[in-house]
Amino acid sequence: MVPLQFVDSHCHLNYLDDTPEAIARARAANVDTMLCIGVEADRFSEVLECADGNSGIWASVGEHPGNASGRPKWLHDHLPHPRIVAIGETGLDYFYDADDATRKLQLDGFRYQMEVAHAENLPVIIHTRAAVEDTLSVLHEFPRVTGVLHCFTENWDMAEKALALGYYISISGIVTFKNAENVRDVARRVPSERLLIETDAPWLAPVPNRGKTNEPAFVAHTAQYVADLRGQTLAEIAVLTRDNFFRLFPRADSK
Ligand SMILES: [Zn+2]
Repeated sequence: MVPLQFVDSHCHLNYLDDTPEAIARARAANVDTMLCIGVEADRFSEVLECADGNSGIWASVGEHPGNASGRPKWLHDHLPHPRIVAIGETGLDYFYDADDATRKLQLDGFRYQMEVAHAENLPVIIHTRAAVEDTLSVLHEFPRVTGVLHCFTENWDMAEKALALGYYISISGIVTFKNAENVRDVARRVPSERLLIETDAPWLAPVPNRGKTNEPAFVAHTAQYVADLRGQTLAEIAVLTRDNFFRLFPRADSK
């Protein structure tokens, strides 16, 4: 029997202490596809190093709202790179004291990256936390852009609105945490053709590894948990999240 192959749709391999070993452990755990996410200009070369020459590892280029600097023009330098398959992560995070000036910077950066995604016909990876209204309103401004709301922690109402705009929803290890009933509710209800799973490593290790450094090898725990929630088999979740990944990120398929 061919072993199941898992996709980690969102990880930060360059922030792990032992990146090459973590990649080897991921492959040993049948995680053969990983998307390494760009969040800042300063360390972006590390993201490309993770993807370059590593089959099955892809990269996105973007500026995280926590690093918002306005309009991140630097990302244009990297768009031609053959391992880049998406823009982001971008979005809005008002969870920590976001004063008006901070919100404006985040909004400027978010809109700019949506413009680039539109112009380049690339999917976007969205980070959204405590900013439901503003996030949805920016998504509405760019009806031809699609992408994923990663590490989703809001409620079904927001998920439904994002799904209606064509977005995918990615479930992280948070779904296994005790207090995450809203995430479990969303994980049960997302249509099979819009569901992704991720680690967001090195953060947010799923139960039974909660508290440890997270790594892509752990994505199978989240897959199993989501399978149980949805009354599907692990194989079904592995296959559908893989199909969804390659549909959303078509550039990852061809090289
Ligand atoms: Zn992330």
